[in-house]
Amino acid sequence: MKALRIANGRIIDPANKRDEVADLWIADGVFTNQPRGEESEVESIDATGLIVAPGLIDMHVHFRDPGQSQKETIATGSRAAAAGGFSSVVCMPNTNPVADNAGTIALIREKAQCNAEINIFTAGAITKGLAGEELAPYGSMFAAGIVAITDDGHCVQNHEVMRRAVEYARMFGIPVLDHCQDYSLVGNGVMHEGEWSLRLGLPGWPRIGEEIIVARNILLSELCDSPIHCQHISSGGSVRLLREAKSRGMKVSGEVCPHHIALTDECLRRFDSNYKVNPPLRSASDIEEIVEGLADGTLDILCSDHAPHALYEKEVELDQAPFGVAGLETEFGLFCDILVHKKKAVPLDRLIEMLTVNPARLLSLDRGTLSAGAPADVALIDPNLEWRFDKEKSESLSRNTPFHGAELKGRVVRTIVTGKTVWALEV
Ligand SMILES: [Zn+2]
Repeated sequence: MKALRIANGRIIDPANKRDEVADLWIADGVFTNQPRGEESEVESIDATGLIVAPGLIDMHVHFRDPGQSQKETIATGSRAAAAGGFSSVVCMPNTNPVADNAGTIALIREKAQCNAEINIFTAGAITKGLAGEELAPYGSMFAAGIVAITDDGHCVQNHEVMRRAVEYARMFGIPVLDHCQDYSLVGNGVMHEGEWSLRLGLPGWPRIGEEIIVARNILLSELCDSPIHCQHISSGGSVRLLREAKSRGMKVSGEVCPHHIALTDECLRRFDSNYKVNPPLRSASDIEEIVEGLADGTLDILCSDHAPHALYEKEVELDQAPFGVAGLETEFGLFCDILVHKKKAVPLDRLIEMLTVNPARLLSLDRGTLSAGAPADVALIDPNLEWRFDKEKSESLSRNTPFHGAELKGRVVRTIVTGKTVWALEV
């Protein structure tokens, strides 16, 4: 048996409340205690000066596979994830065909088996065709391996349909993830409704379009006694609603994407579609409230909403361009830079917690810890490494990022999946 020793790093394993300088041992793809045996059979990685963390998990990515391989594929998306330090991702179901049935889920999982070196988990659709009307078959999708349901990109508007979705999902112990957007309030909005939308003459996407669905979800979660997770929170008002609900012990949670704390609506002043995301970039006060929500634990999961688009799709008039940014490779750097270094709002161990054990617990994944016996997914992190993101070197098929040239502090320097290095920073 060949063992791997990750030597002399600072092990931060929030799931086990562990923070110490020690060696981490891996054998046969799982974490082990230090084996007794011949030293010659041990391969060693020197982690002196590095953080040794559980493999990072991004529970919100779009790999566009099947159906839109001009934007991304499972192979390219996985490489981008690995290069961003992620050993696990959860793919959203808005593929073509939509992942609203067991066959498509099985197809995606099979593609992942053949084409990905990281762990690909799948979310199934809440409703057939993401149309918001008829529930998808959760039982057979669950048997095929889904870890959650969501209509991400779309939002179930009919509250009775949503209620039945939550009750049905509860039978399988899977959470409902919701893209919170009220269609009547948002209409054809393309950016945050405020001073800048007025100045630029663009239709506004008001905060209340998100908040009213967050409030709906809190009420439904309470009624059904089952978890609802609010995706990509952009509004300060949503944070307040979630804080109040969590203080009463409600099973609701919220996630945050880097662009929503790094950028404001003012970025759209040059009509650059790389700043067009859904929900939209908002104001400095929203950023403040989101960061406060992360600091006090109201929001406890971080993700990218990695949404690759081909150049020709984004190079059109702003109101015609698709929403989204490709975010996997800048995600950790932005979060570490903003939350840990610049704002000092979140310590490093909590940052790691929000990228590992928190999503793992919500989705019941056997990942996100360094416990003996668990699959040996590891991120080696240099939290003080200063680096510059170059989109031309990206592993993603797409280049739709507003962070080209961004100078960031903190980076994953090696990504290990079940004991195997799948990506390492070249030095
Ligand atoms: Zn979404």
